[in-house]
Amino acid sequence: MKLNNHLCGQWLQGAGEGVPLLDPVSGEELVRVSSEGLDLGAAMAYARDQGGSALRAMSYEQRAACLGQIAEVLSANREAYFDISLRNSGSTAADAGFDVDGAIFTLKTYARAGKVLGAARQLKDGGRVALAKTDVFQGQHFLTPLQGVAVFINAFNFPAWGLWEKAAPALLSGVPVLVKPATPTAWLTQRMVEDVVAAGILPPGAISIVCGGARDLLDHVDARDVVSFTGSADTAARIRNHPAVVAHSVRVNVEADSVNSAVLGPDAVPGTAEFDLAVKEVVRELTIKSGQKCTAIRRIFAPAAVATALADAVAARLSGMTVGNPRTEGVRVGPLVSRAQQAAALEGLAKLKLDARLVFGGDPDFVPVDADPAVSAFVQPALLFCDKGLDAQYVHDVEVFGPVATVLPYADPAALVAMVRRGGGSLVASVYSADAAFLCEFIPAIADMHGRVMVVDGVIGNQHTGHGNVMPTCLHGGPGRAGGGEELGGLRALAMYHRRHVVQGGSSLLDALCEGAADAALLGA
Ligand code: NAP
Repeated sequence: MKLNNHLCGQWLQGAGEGVPLLDPVSGEELVRVSSEGLDLGAAMAYARDQGGSALRAMSYEQRAACLGQIAEVLSANREAYFDISLRNSGSTAADAGFDVDGAIFTLKTYARAGKVLGAARQLKDGGRVALAKTDVFQGQHFLTPLQGVAVFINAFNFPAWGLWEKAAPALLSGVPVLVKPATPTAWLTQRMVEDVVAAGILPPGAISIVCGGARDLLDHVDARDVVSFTGSADTAARIRNHPAVVAHSVRVNVEADSVNSAVLGPDAVPGTAEFDLAVKEVVRELTIKSGQKCTAIRRIFAPAAVATALADAVAARLSGMTVGNPRTEGVRVGPLVSRAQQAAALEGLAKLKLDARLVFGGDPDFVPVDADPAVSAFVQPALLFCDKGLDAQYVHDVEVFGPVATVLPYADPAALVAMVRRGGGSLVASVYSADAAFLCEFIPAIADMHGRVMVVDGVIGNQHTGHGNVMPTCLHGGPGRAGGGEELGGLRALAMYHRRHVVQGGSSLLDALCEGAADAALLGA
């Protein structure tokens, strides 16, 4: 079966045989996708003209209501999405929940938050700016929704959340969406779009999907559009340098890879709550979605006197995790999404082994439960230990996109800061410490290189939201190698889909233009 694409308000099949999507446990072909022969220029024009116009005719609160309805449709079909996740991504129920329930939660959050913008159709930004000796001539800043398309080029690891965490703020802003999911796992994204289109919640052209290669998609972007990309740094560079993107100064948001850190403070010694919380979180990050999370912990920093105990504690927990076919009772860790990803992860692991010794797992010949190693895409969870600090060649650079992390001992806070910063810009660092003096020095020292810092102590205990869990109300994105992008952060995310401009003129004209506009300060509220 070849999946349909939804473009120009119609369901269309791409030409040719298409690319097969596979079950990463059995290798069985599931469906095919093709974008061949589709007129992506016409699809962009239709989305702008039909979808954009209809969305902009609605108010923020009307669009927020649509997001709530989309969440209901997705909730009603949740079981089908878990089944597709299992078959196409090899997801355990917990892995599928992370993606699917994360998507529904994000939509509901924006449906609720968007109501505060009420019946407005644009936002006024700040007060009047004095420009003359009297108020006869003044300035007023506004945020106005873009009249283009939000083009999403997404990664394979979050086919559900990856669409809706971007689509919720774009649609709430009044900007139509065209998503190109990553080919290996496009099925779930396609099925969700199909369900939402069938429910008739959004106007025609408000949501489009093309499955398969991006082909000439970016040739058709212009100054009105925004491109939001999630994936590897290499592809990000190609997108940023695409001639149409460069020629039209197209707004581009990039969420790329990241060697995120977990840090045990000097006080997080064995026997403390902070030590135990760190061990639990490291194991969770290594195993949920088999480590295929952009936010996953890749480097674990511990005081030199504690590092071996930490590695032993993590290894002990990992040894109790059953890796194999997620259809089998008791399996906690599934495969990677494809044989290509398995090969890339094993290649990365081999590089890390040049810097570090294996403490646990990482055996390329291990046998998963109820799966044939010859056709499946499993990687045994691996923990490494590296005492080379800043001299390590690979540990601070190589993101193994699988269940792999490395423990690094640190001698003092200065050495710790230098190594954490050596990651070159990350999405998140989590810190396990109750030492206020240490935290107040350490957090500002790494903050400019991170999008998010999560601090956990014994008082917070298990009430934290998780190192790798992206909350829709908090910023997601990071500087440098993490892509330099910003997503979510509640209504702050709407800024990417609006253009700030200032009107200079007489005060009665400005009064008229402000009529009914909502206050942009609400975006940060
Ligand atoms: P990828 O190979 O860069 O692919 C990402 C997307 O780009 C796919 O949809 C791919 O389509 C498309 N693509 C590839 N070449 C293109 C081109 N020349 N023009 C336009 N589109 C193109 O990345 P991936 O392997 O799927 O994703 C893994 C990476 O994503 C990891 O490094 C991970 O850290 C990162 N990630 C980051 C975040 C975040 O929020 N920061 C979240 C998830 C993942 P095809 O699949 O059809 O090739």
